[in-house]
Formats: sequence, structure tokens, C-alpha cells
Amino acid sequence: MKITFLGTGTSQGVPVIGCNCEVCRSMDYRDKRLRSSLHIENQGASIVIDTGPDFRMQMLQNAIPRLDAVVYTHEHKDHTAGLDDIRPYNFKQQTDIPLFGTAQVLNQIKTEFAYIFSKNKYPGIPRVLIHEIGNAPFEVEGTTFTPIQVMHHKLPVFGFRIGDFTYITDANYISPEEIEKIKGTKILVLNALQIKPHISHFTLNEALSFVQEINPEYAYFTHISHKLGLHQQVQSSLPANVALAFDGLQIET
Ligand SMILES: [Zn+2]
Ligand SMILES: [Zn+2]
Ligand SMILES: [Zn+2]
Repeated sequence: MKITFLGTGTSQGVPVIGCNCEVCRSMDYRDKRLRSSLHIENQGASIVIDTGPDFRMQMLQNAIPRLDAVVYTHEHKDHTAGLDDIRPYNFKQQTDIPLFGTAQVLNQIKTEFAYIFSKNKYPGIPRVLIHEIGNAPFEVEGTTFTPIQVMHHKLPVFGFRIGDFTYITDANYISPEEIEKIKGTKILVLNALQIKPHISHFTLNEALSFVQEINPEYAYFTHISHKLGLHQQVQSSLPANVALAFDGLQIET
């Protein structure tokens, strides 16, 4: 399985519009973070987790020629806003794109992209196939996803375990039952927003202590704010088996 971090930034992205802080002014390419999203290539299938506002640029920058399915973590705009840009894949592949999400996520998508679901469809709009998921393993193009329900303040969000790889973007609490599903994972991706406490995301220290608890071979942090600090400085303070992810980073499992 080949995994590409399409975006590793929090909801506003990094740099933030109008911000003059040292992270937003940084020339390090690793300090340029599009909204969080992941690409998975497994057994010939091309799957994206979340279609945020930067979806189009992410697919172009990573030259992703085909899209077989989208899996959603939750309905926040920084994870859904780019859905309209699946259209080139509809046209090229002459297929509808399957979307996997909870009832809550799919209902929100149906509201925000009502034209996709209208009875009298305008020509050229996105064509999708809706697949409702619950907190039980499901198959996407031959790849098994096991949801991990995490809490994002009061909003339930799905992380996903795929074999020995676990991806959790937006969380600040994970129940003991759900932690059981993560145990034994070799690679853990986790949100680490900033240094200071936040109402709906793990801080750097909270993410580090969760990594200690799970003890994976390797952990990557994502959904990063400009307030976390410069990539290079933060990276140099981390344990040997932990890295800040950055846009374009690829790993094989
Ligand atoms: Zn988010
Ligand atoms: Zn800034
Ligand atoms: Zn969110």
C-alpha cells in the first residue's frame, strides 16, 4: 500500500491568509500545508480520504490519474468543500464516484451539494454513488477499512485502520474501546494542532502521550496549525519514531 499525504494543515491551511508569523513567512516547503487529506493506492485502487477545499490542487500536484472512491472522516468543510472537483474523474473514467460516510456526513453533503442530488440534474455536475457506513469494517475496492470512532469536541469523527496503518485526523478524545482497535498498528497518523490546549484537537503533547500509549513503530502528525511552530524546529524536538507529516510525503506499508 502506498500512502501520500495530500494535505497536512488545519482548517485555514498554512500559511494563513493575512498572517505575518514566522511559520506563515517560512520558505521551507514543509511549512506550506494544504487542508488535511490522504491518498491510498492499494491493489491498483486509488482512494482518497476527505475532499477538502484544496482537493483540485492536491490531485494536480500529486498527479493522481484516477479516483476509485472517497472515504469521509467527518462533515467539516475543510474535509468536504472540494467535492465538486471530482468531475474530471467522472468525465475521464465515465464512472460515478463512490462516497463512503456516516449518515450524518452524507446528509450534510446532500445539503451542501444539493445540486448533485437534485431530480433534474444540470449536465456536467459530479456523479456520485452513496455508501453509508457505520462503526463496523467495510470494503472499498478490495481494501478493508475499520472505523475508529473518535471525538472532535462533541462531534463523532471516524479515524480508519487499514491493515497496520491507522489515520486519525480530527480528535481530542478516544475512548478505551476504540483505543483497543488501534493497538498493534505499525504506523499511526494523528492530529497534533498546536502547543496550546484546543477545544477539539490534540495538542503536540497530547499527541505524543497517545503515541507512547499505543507505541507504534512510527507515528506521523498531521492537521497542523501555524501555531505549532516551524516544521524543522518542531521536528528536531520529537522522539526518533515520530515525525511531522508534510504535504507530498509518501510512505509504503
Ligand atoms: Zn479538520
Ligand atoms: Zn501564521
Ligand atoms: Zn473537523
